[in-house]
Amino acid sequence: MEDLISQTLAIHVPPPPPGAALEPTTLERRELRPDDVRIDIAYAGICHSDIHQAKEEWGSAIFPMVPGHEIAGVVSEVGSGVTTHEVGDRVGVGCMVDSCGECEYCRAGTEQFCLRGNVQTYNGVGFDGENTYGGYSQQVVVKDHFVCRIPEGIGLDVAAPLLCAGITTYSPLNRWNAGPGKKVAVVGLGGLGHVAVRIAVAMGAEVTVLSQSLKKQEDGLRLGAEDYYATSDESTFTTLRSSFDLILNTVSSEIPVDSYLAMLRVGGAMVNVGAPSAPLSYSAFSLIGGNKVLTGSMIGGLPETQEMLDFCAEHGIGAEVETISADQVNTAYERVQNSDVRYRFVIDTATIGQQ
Ligand code: NAP
Ligand code: ZN
Repeated sequence: MEDLISQTLAIHVPPPPPGAALEPTTLERRELRPDDVRIDIAYAGICHSDIHQAKEEWGSAIFPMVPGHEIAGVVSEVGSGVTTHEVGDRVGVGCMVDSCGECEYCRAGTEQFCLRGNVQTYNGVGFDGENTYGGYSQQVVVKDHFVCRIPEGIGLDVAAPLLCAGITTYSPLNRWNAGPGKKVAVVGLGGLGHVAVRIAVAMGAEVTVLSQSLKKQEDGLRLGAEDYYATSDESTFTTLRSSFDLILNTVSSEIPVDSYLAMLRVGGAMVNVGAPSAPLSYSAFSLIGGNKVLTGSMIGGLPETQEMLDFCAEHGIGAEVETISADQVNTAYERVQNSDVRYRFVIDTATIGQQ
């Protein structure tokens, strides 16, 4: 009986070659430790990071791989020592499932920078030596500290992407003071980008979308942006010279960084969250010429993730999702790679194993 309880259906990328099609599988989840929470997953978002890893674009990965670090579901069981979550709670899990809890970064609530290395939700190895498997699955067991509350008022489907896309954009927008009087450009209107627009608008900033084309202009404006420009049009870069206090780059491929830095005002900052496999380059003069900042940002810690979920609930922000069944996941991967996502795919995990 115990074995049955811990068995769950999932979708995995089979062992090499990388980039193989995803297919259904069965997975064992561990029995609960005192500080564990078992979650019945309802929806799992498809982040471009899943694709980077499934295709080994960031280096060698662990296969079979069950991707998924945008997890939303309902608590089905809690360990004996868990006080923060109860059976029936609506909860979410993002990119991490463990960290040392003791180093300066963990103590500061920035577990993503744990000195022992945070344990990734999938394509990682836990401190127990076991491989981790992510959210494209019907069930997951996660240490309580890494489980967030999803406030009432946000549907689980539109909340799931907030666990990565939401926190990855909220954190730098917050840190670099997106707000009233600030002009913010969001580069790339995909999963991260469209959530970034909504969050930056809710923070009070004046938002411009910089997309490859004007195809999604209507959507960008509906999401709250005031302006929308195509980066395929060279005149965009001259029109917008010295315009922005903050540029948030969410693009999954390399972009010409110098051209973007030229659109910053003096003292402005460009934050890179996009994670292409090839290096980005820039000229030192692009920064020197205006005391500009070029920086990066990695997801966000657990306290800030909860803060982001509460902020999104308060402002009625969810992701705009296309809900798919498990057998559509390979097509969804293709579409994400072709910038044909409107604007996040979420897998209805109830459909796993039905095809
Ligand atoms: P996504 O949904 O595919 O969106 C990326 C967008 O970038 C596309 O929709 C497209 O927007 C634009 N784009 C794609 N290829 C481009 C190209 N060659 N030139 C210019 N623009 C291009 O991906 P995502 O899930 O939002 O993730 C975006 C990136 O962030 C990925 O690299 C992912 O790994 C990374 N990421 C980083 C963190 C972190 O902690 N830093 C966390 C999560 C994800 P337009 O069609 O509007 O141009
Ligand atoms: Zn992600």
